[in-house]
Amino acid sequence: MTATVAVFREDPYAPECAATVLAHATLETPKGPLTGLVLDRTVFYVEGGGQPGDSGVLVWQGGSTAVVTVLKDRGTGDWVHVPEDGAALPPVGTALTCRIDWDRRHRHMRLHTCLHLLCSLVDAPVTGGSVSAEKARLDFDLDTAPDKDELTAKLNALIAADHPVTASWISGEELQANPDIVRTMSVKPPVTPEGVRVIRIGDAVDFQPCGGTHVRATGEIGPVRVVKMEKKGKLNRRIIVEFAGA
Ligand SMILES: [Zn+2]
Repeated sequence: MTATVAVFREDPYAPECAATVLAHATLETPKGPLTGLVLDRTVFYVEGGGQPGDSGVLVWQGGSTAVVTVLKDRGTGDWVHVPEDGAALPPVGTALTCRIDWDRRHRHMRLHTCLHLLCSLVDAPVTGGSVSAEKARLDFDLDTAPDKDELTAKLNALIAADHPVTASWISGEELQANPDIVRTMSVKPPVTPEGVRVIRIGDAVDFQPCGGTHVRATGEIGPVRVVKMEKKGKLNRRIIVEFAGA
């Protein structure tokens, strides 16, 4: 269990917050050990659910370091802010400001919210997905590909309708009683002490558990286009979306 307060969850629009260094932590990664910082609170999204960890900077009196991502230690549950190579780390107890690369995060939020819309338009189980600052994809257990241009038009209509996006909580029991709201087979809904976080778009556009970061209303996504539909294996069809004109 992490000791870090997730400021990004209550306020995904916060670009920075004050924090204190709780610990130095070393992560084992395929590229070797990485040492980073565990903070008491953070605006940095922690890599997960197909959304990358945020990049940004930590600033304290007399120093600063760039953060390349934030990763979850699978053993301890700690959220580790990974500094750029060779950066000096401030000691435990240091008060600092953590600030994300807001433009990159906002693009993640826009595309991640767009994936909820895509999910609402394709009536098939989701087997995977991911977001970057340029494009996003969902994989569906789907035999026949929908029409690319038609899907683009439907997505942009949902975006232009500027549906509100709201977060709330349900209990683990409510989730068990309504298993159909889980659309993604590959990601288990994050269950926290508050329960299960659910995201609603419009009245009935989309409703599902999600721990990611979202824009306030779909209009903020801006125009998008479906660029590719790929067959990935026997059952998987990958649909890739990017910003139109980006
Ligand atoms: Zn989401």
